[in-house]
Amino acid sequence: MDKSWMQCSRWSDEYFMGMNKFLDFAFEKVGTHGKNNCPCTKCSHRLWYDRRIVVDHLLHQGFSMGYTHWIYHVCSYICDQGHIYHFV
Ligand SMILES: [Zn+2]
Repeated sequence: MDKSWMQCSRWSDEYFMGMNKFLDFAFEKVGTHGKNNCPCTKCSHRLWYDRRIVVDHLLHQGFSMGYTHWIYHVCSYICDQGHIYHFV
C-alpha cells in the first residue's frame, strides 16, 4: 500500500488524489450510512462524519499520528470478511 502521498503537502495534487482514493476505499468498505470515522488530528477516529466533512478536516488538519492504524483497521476488517482487496 503506497502511503507516500501522506508525506506531501496537504495542498498538493498528490495528497488530494491519494486522500480521495483512500476515502473511496474506506467509505465503500467500512462506512456506515455514508459516514466514517474521521482520522484527522482533531477527531482522531472518535467522531463519524460524511465524506465532505472528512475531506475538509483532512485538508485543513491532516491525518492524526495514528492514521496507519486506521488503514490497518480497514485492512483487518476486510480480511475478516474473507476477501482480499488492494488499495493503491
Ligand atoms: Zn476530523
